[in-house]
Amino acid sequence: MFIGHMPAGYLSTKAFLRILPGRYIEKIQVKYALILGIVGSIFPDLDMFYFYLIDNRQHLHHGYWTHIFFFWVCVFLPLFAIFTVLKKNNFSIYLSVFSINVFIHLFLDTIVGKIRWLYPFSSQDFVFFHVPARYGWWIWNFVFHWTFLFEIILITGALFLIIRNIRMKRQDS
Ligand SMILES: [Zn+2]
Repeated sequence: MFIGHMPAGYLSTKAFLRILPGRYIEKIQVKYALILGIVGSIFPDLDMFYFYLIDNRQHLHHGYWTHIFFFWVCVFLPLFAIFTVLKKNNFSIYLSVFSINVFIHLFLDTIVGKIRWLYPFSSQDFVFFHVPARYGWWIWNFVFHWTFLFEIILITGALFLIIRNIRMKRQDS
């Protein structure tokens, strides 16, 4: 997925905050949760900088640790445990927002990109749809594939929600 991650992060965080019981919402700053959700939704792609700037495009970008499910489980579980022991409920909520979005990122990348969901136990790549190489510039292969509709739906959905929120705020004031 290319441009759908950020809108997906916005939509999923909004949905998460909507179903979160009021007593938890009181403990957090909704604004910070939204920012963290959106950062989480694109965070795994930070490996792009490594891929282009340091690694000289040697390894498949989805093969880096930021796209490895098990790595994130090893990061998030101890943090959840620490926050629970310290009774830092607000940190746990922020971490939930961030982690949900990281996992949604990996899921969305699985649509046409290869994700090693079972690594390091297995190096098998998982992908829902294979995109054939038809065009000279590889990005066109994805843009002109029907699965790009998912990205358009996510962007449209996020824009719709943002415009609706702006309108509602105007009506309130
Ligand atoms: Zn990615």
